[in-house]
Amino acid sequence: MSKTIIISNRLPVKITKDHEEFILKQSEGGLATGLGSIYRQGNNVWIGWPGVECSSVEEEKLISEKLSEINLLPVFLTQEDINLYYEGFSNEILWPVFHYHPTYAVYEQSYWDSYVSVNNKFKDAVLAISEPGDIIWIHDYQLLLLPGLIRAEQPDLTIGFFQHIPFPSHELFRLIPWRKEILENMLGADLIGFHTFDDARHFLSAATRVLPVQSSANVLSYNERQIVIESFPMGIDNNKFEQLTYEQLVQDNIEKLKKSFQYSKVILSIDRLDYSKGILNRLQTYQMLLQKNPEYIGKVVLYMIIVPSRDTVKQYKELRDEIDKVVGNINAQYRTLNWLPVHYYYRSFEIEMLAALYNLADICLVTPMRDGMNLVSKEYIACRTNNTGVLILSEMAGAAKELIDSIIVNPNNIGEMYRAIIEGLDMPEPEQQRRMTQMRDIVSKFNIRHWVKIYMDRLQEVKLMQASLQAKHIGSQRRHIIEKEYSAASNRILFLDYDGTLVGFDTNINKASPDTELMSILHQLSSDPSNTVVIISGRKHENLEEWFGHLPIDIIAEHGAWQKKHRTEWVEQPGLSNHWKQDIFPILETFTDRTPGSFIEEKTYSLVWHYRKAEKDLGELRANDLMANLRYITADKGLHMLPGNKVVEVKNMEVNKGKVALTWLSNDSYDFVMALGDDHTDEDMFKAFSHDSVTIKVGSNISAARFYLNDYKEVRQLLRTLAEKNDVESTENQNSK
Ligand code: UDP
Repeated sequence: MSKTIIISNRLPVKITKDHEEFILKQSEGGLATGLGSIYRQGNNVWIGWPGVECSSVEEEKLISEKLSEINLLPVFLTQEDINLYYEGFSNEILWPVFHYHPTYAVYEQSYWDSYVSVNNKFKDAVLAISEPGDIIWIHDYQLLLLPGLIRAEQPDLTIGFFQHIPFPSHELFRLIPWRKEILENMLGADLIGFHTFDDARHFLSAATRVLPVQSSANVLSYNERQIVIESFPMGIDNNKFEQLTYEQLVQDNIEKLKKSFQYSKVILSIDRLDYSKGILNRLQTYQMLLQKNPEYIGKVVLYMIIVPSRDTVKQYKELRDEIDKVVGNINAQYRTLNWLPVHYYYRSFEIEMLAALYNLADICLVTPMRDGMNLVSKEYIACRTNNTGVLILSEMAGAAKELIDSIIVNPNNIGEMYRAIIEGLDMPEPEQQRRMTQMRDIVSKFNIRHWVKIYMDRLQEVKLMQASLQAKHIGSQRRHIIEKEYSAASNRILFLDYDGTLVGFDTNINKASPDTELMSILHQLSSDPSNTVVIISGRKHENLEEWFGHLPIDIIAEHGAWQKKHRTEWVEQPGLSNHWKQDIFPILETFTDRTPGSFIEEKTYSLVWHYRKAEKDLGELRANDLMANLRYITADKGLHMLPGNKVVEVKNMEVNKGKVALTWLSNDSYDFVMALGDDHTDEDMFKAFSHDSVTIKVGSNISAARFYLNDYKEVRQLLRTLAEKNDVESTENQNSK
């Protein structure tokens, strides 16, 4: 039976040693709870580092046995691994860059080497137990290489990857010296998930700029596989937090807190120690409140919990010292005999105390500079069982995309945060309830179980989508059937598009001239008297004549405006006009003047605006803008506007590859019809042909064609095999005569 394997850097367990005995305490964190429904079942398993260093192989064995009882499988790491892979590459390169602090990054080669080696350790652990049909779900930035490493050895596994921290803009991501290797390996997954659409968008932009991938909306095609990139905002176990507030211990805590703060409103702030959390700006805002509004002195407190984290690292230690200093200053300046402005705790709290604080606090102040999601904000909402309370939330936290009824602030804007606190302190209860009810609905619906379910469902859908595309792909079996049909036929016609089908794309349109390999294939195909080979292209007839005029083939140029049968002269499609060019040309010229790298190509009956050489997104932006400009004028003049591969073409409506190909078909009765193309214009041909024709789309996009091939190289392979069939068959025929 197939199983699911979860993998994360850390196992959801805390191991302590008590008199030679290891004691395991399972984590109650959100992710562990959400994934609990998966990894605890049947033969499913969670793989990760157990968080302890073992002094002997016996100890490792002992721990492994204990962990296996609760479906956990350890990957043991050495102190050096932890220093270089975890503290080094993960936390001194990926963490700062992904949280928009690139100046904190230290690009050490030894960090990268260790990152590769530890990701390989995880890969070995997975491969030791994985079997075909298993589902793998990899978590977070410490294991970015794992999808690719596993895929390389077990290509058919279902692999999901989820990143819990932000994915930065390509401008930042590109700073990492190993960016290409990182992206290549992430694309080993079938489904890549992020918390927000912005993260997904940034990833798509980085992947399409760094790697030769094709993208269509949020689907990337790489190494002949489709990878879906999507956002899945993670939720919490809201019921657990809500229920906690009714527990006796929590109620007792609430009573104690109420007594301590009976004369003050409480502003709650909870974070791990990290420069991404915006802690100093928050303190500065609070200081401003007390300074500008002395009426709040004695009437509000800031209850600030900072959970210790990485405080041996220089930047973290400095941050901690700075926080100590600022908190000390505020308290020294404003405290009174029976009131302390900042209640600061540098330690972690039991969940029963957190729930009490969430339930009690009038305001929860969550103002990170960057945060993948931020769970504290959602936990606060889950604990507001009487629907009051105010959440002030940084727009830089992933949660801000969902919790739009919070007071959203820019964490760099101290004035705005200051005004938000005053708004929160003054907010009438009905308004608090209106906002809180909406947010509670969201936190309740998009909870952690929902998150796990929609991710897993989507992963299955992606596999089905890949399988249905794969079924259309011409593999060896399908090729064999086509070869047989080809051999059995005695009067064949082959329509071949040129750019993107027979040759790859070149930034210089005049450079994509046919090479000797292609010429030899065409020569071989067309030398068989049973074959009619038709090159059907959007290119100018002069071009095509120069390249193919000497071959025994037919040529259709400019999508059909010009036509030439073998041994005859070029003829124009009758009844076409090109007076419209004088109206369209100036518009294209304006766009060319505004877009470096773009240019206009003039054909007899069409005008083409090329932007392959323009800056990537600028070209697309301008093309969309151009099409919006041309929409009405082309409709008015009976013209057809075609978006193509890095081009926008305007041509006569009557010119259509489908129509012209049909007239070719009607010239004779063919018993084998094949058409290959990669562009929108080729779709007309695919649609026009009968269902038993061999229509082949090049590239894996959705198409009316029956089959698809990945690129021009696969096209050549197929044509070569067919062409060689001629030779074999004609030799065989000759021999048998
Ligand atoms: N938390 C905790 N003990 C504490 C304070 C906080 O376990 O003393 C938990 C808190 O309940 C939340 C998590 O730490 O679930 C912080 O998650 P968040 O997404 O807000 O920030 P991260 O630390 O993951 O960047």
